[in-house]
Amino acid sequence: MAGMFASASDRIILYSYYYPRSRGIYFDWTFLLLIAGGLVCMAASALMHSYTNRYSKVLSRSGLTGAQAAQLILQRAGVFGVSVQPIGGQLTDHYDPRTKVVSLAEESFNKTSLTGIGVAAHECGHAIQDAEGYAPLRLRSQIVPVVNIGSQLAFPIFLLGLILSMQPLLTVGIALFSLAVLFQLITLPVEIDASRRAMKLLGSTGLLADDEMSGARKVLTAAAMTYVAALLSSLLQLLRLILIARGNSRND
Ligand SMILES: [Zn+2]
Repeated sequence: MAGMFASASDRIILYSYYYPRSRGIYFDWTFLLLIAGGLVCMAASALMHSYTNRYSKVLSRSGLTGAQAAQLILQRAGVFGVSVQPIGGQLTDHYDPRTKVVSLAEESFNKTSLTGIGVAAHECGHAIQDAEGYAPLRLRSQIVPVVNIGSQLAFPIFLLGLILSMQPLLTVGIALFSLAVLFQLITLPVEIDASRRAMKLLGSTGLLADDEMSGARKVLTAAAMTYVAALLSSLLQLLRLILIARGNSRND
C-alpha cells in the first residue's frame, strides 16, 4: 500500500489498560506516551484536513480533473501500463504497485482543484518510483508480509509475556513491534520523494501555475506530516513497551 495519508494504528490502546490490571491497580504513567502520540497524530490529521478542504475549493485554472492530470503526468514521465481509476471513500487515494493502478477518490478523480491535482500528482509520483525501481519503495513492498505478521503478533506476545512474566516473550514482542516501526521509517522517504516528484512534474508540465503551486505544496506537506506523526507515535509506543518490559524485569 502506498496510500496518501497515514492512518493511526491504535490497536495498542486495546491492550494498554490490561497491564495495570494484571499487576494490581496503580497509575501506569507510560500511558501518557500513548496519549502524547495520539495527540500528535490528531494535530497532523487536523492540519491535513484543513488544507485538503481549503484547496479542494480552489479550482485549478487548467480546468483538468485529477484523473486527466494523472494521465498527462504519466504520459510525460514515460510511464505506460499504469491505469487511473476512481475509488470510493474520502482520502482513499493510493497507488498499488502490484496491480499498477493509481486509484483516485471522487474528490481527486472527477474534480479540478489544487487538492485533487496535487494528490493525483503525488500518486503518479509513486507510479514513477515503481517504474524506476526506486529502492525504498521496493524494500517497503518486500517487507509488507513480514510486517503484517509481526504487527499482528507483537501485542498478543508481549501481553502473554506480561501475564506469564516471561522476559523472552517481552523481548520478542518488542522486536516484532520494531518491524512495524521500521516499516514506517522506510515509508517516510517514499512519501516525501513522491511529493517532491509531484511538485516537479506539476511545474514542468505546466499543470499548475506558479501561484497555484503553493496550495498544492501545502496539501502535500500536510499529508507528509501525518506520516511523520505516525512514526513519532509508534516510536513512543515502542519506548513504552521497553519501559514496561524493564519495569517487569525489575519486579522479578
Ligand atoms: Zn503516498
